Amino acid sequence: MTQPRQATMPAALRQGRPPRHPALGVRCPHCAAAPDTRCTTRAGRTRVQRLDPCPARLAAHATAVAVCPTCQVTPGTPCHDDGIQRPDSSPVHHRRYQEAQEDAA
Ligand SMILES: [Zn+2]
Ligand SMILES: [Zn+2]
Repeated sequence: MTQPRQATMPAALRQGRPPRHPALGVRCPHCAAAPDTRCTTRAGRTRVQRLDPCPARLAAHATAVAVCPTCQVTPGTPCHDDGIQRPDSSPVHHRRYQEAQEDAA
């Protein structure tokens, strides 16, 4: 066993995801994680930390901080389609998520 160790750090790791997701700034409406606390998911009886925030938290964050480029609502106002509420499965327009990410960067 004299082989030199290879440097195999994946490029994705080096480029790095931000250490703290901007959505962590808001409380999670899904799993009730407090601000600055990672989302959790239940595996059996144990709470397990999620790598990424719950989708509902991403939606809550985007709604709280970003103007929606699609339906033109201001921060704090939920998205709508021509005045009709968006479905729970997709409450926020896709471009609003992008807008929220750019604000944080
Ligand atoms: Zn959550
Ligand atoms: Zn919208």
